[in-house]
Amino acid sequence: MTYATNEPHLVVCVKVVPKPEEVRVDPQSRRLDRAGARSEINPPDLNAVEFALQIKDRFGGKVSILSMGPPFFEPYLRICLAMGADHVYLLSDRLFGGADTLATTYTLAQAVRRLEPVDLVLCGEESSDGATGQVPPGLAEWLGYQQITLVNDIEMDMSRRTVRGRRERQGGYEILEVPLPAVISVKTGCNEPRFWDYRLKPWAFAPERVTVWSASDMDVDPEFIGLAGSPTQVVGLEQAPSRERKRIMLSGSPQEVAQQLAARLREVLPLVP
Ligand SMILES: Cc1cc2nc3c(=O)[nH]c(=O)nc-3n(C[C@H](O)[C@H](O)[C@H](O)COP(=O)(O)OP(=O)(O)OC[C@H]3O[C@@H](n4cnc5c(N)ncnc54)[C@H](O)[C@@H]3O)c2cc1C
Repeated sequence: MTYATNEPHLVVCVKVVPKPEEVRVDPQSRRLDRAGARSEINPPDLNAVEFALQIKDRFGGKVSILSMGPPFFEPYLRICLAMGADHVYLLSDRLFGGADTLATTYTLAQAVRRLEPVDLVLCGEESSDGATGQVPPGLAEWLGYQQITLVNDIEMDMSRRTVRGRRERQGGYEILEVPLPAVISVKTGCNEPRFWDYRLKPWAFAPERVTVWSASDMDVDPEFIGLAGSPTQVVGLEQAPSRERKRIMLSGSPQEVAQQLAARLREVLPLVP
């Protein structure tokens, strides 16, 4: 691969997810029922966008936003443009639907291939709906790129063509360095995503800022995409049992209630005087 410039091409994978508190699982189909739930950009993906924009602020280059999902994702992705990204690529086709992480990573990787030369692919640590955290490493595998997962900070060195990621560990941290091109996933809340610039809104909402690719626009093997390419099957679904809580109402004057409470506590905590 040849690079004509030291200005990096950064691709950020952004997923639009239903707000976690509003989503439910359809007991019949055993799939997420997103109808009726409002959507948002998956929170750590905004942290990934922020890192990409910081790198662009420092080195120049361009930030491409890559997403796979239905057409209604589009206005959410334009928020990333109003934050400072350059272009959105949305992979949208009924044939992509029902993808598990294997098919998702294959499809996203084929899009990254189309966008090459690429220096760094940034992802959030996991999605708030699927929450497998498998997409970033899966992408790196399909692409043959190096990877660092779950980082809190990133440092690019374009002259050496390397990237460093700082990762918290119990009792300290580690710094990992890999050559470019690479895939990096970032921890939720590791930076403060910039607010979108209202002055950029007309530019961000111009039709030509978003390119939608269907399966026929891409070099994809139909057996590797959507349901056909997804070996994962949900074979059962169960409600986790909720533990019953015992409640005792105490009555009497504040002093009597305090005495009763102390007596109860002595039963379970023998050391209470
Ligand atoms: C067993 C199983 C069954 C499933 N069934 C369904 C189903 O019935 N219906 C359904 O809608 N989904 C279903 N999914 C979810 C679907 O597989 C995921 O949406 C998709 O594969 C991404 O995985 P994830 O959400 O776990 O991503 P993670 O690996 O947790 O995401 C990490 C990061 O990868 C990037 N990323 C992930 N997905 C995308 C994307 N689409 N576009 C751009 N960037 C992305 C983001 O940066 C994200 O922060 C299922 C998943 C599993 C494991």
